[in-house]
Amino acid sequence: MEHIEQITKKRFEVRSNRPCEFCKELDPQFPHRHPLDQVVSFGRKSTASAHLTEEGYVRHRIAELSRLASRKPRNVA
Ligand SMILES: [Zn+2]
Repeated sequence: MEHIEQITKKRFEVRSNRPCEFCKELDPQFPHRHPLDQVVSFGRKSTASAHLTEEGYVRHRIAELSRLASRKPRNVA
């Protein structure tokens, strides 16, 4: 079990993270998030899976979906 704890610890290290540009732009609640829920891994694109926390991941997905929902369907197959 020791190495699992190490991985968890490494995953949540904060020193090499940056705010998610995508969420920053699209989520009105972004500034109210927990700091860990705002950031993605450094060097990764601003995608849902780059988020460090599950909460951040979920909120990113919600922002993505609300953007899709607000877009008018052009190609109805
Ligand atoms: Zn995000």
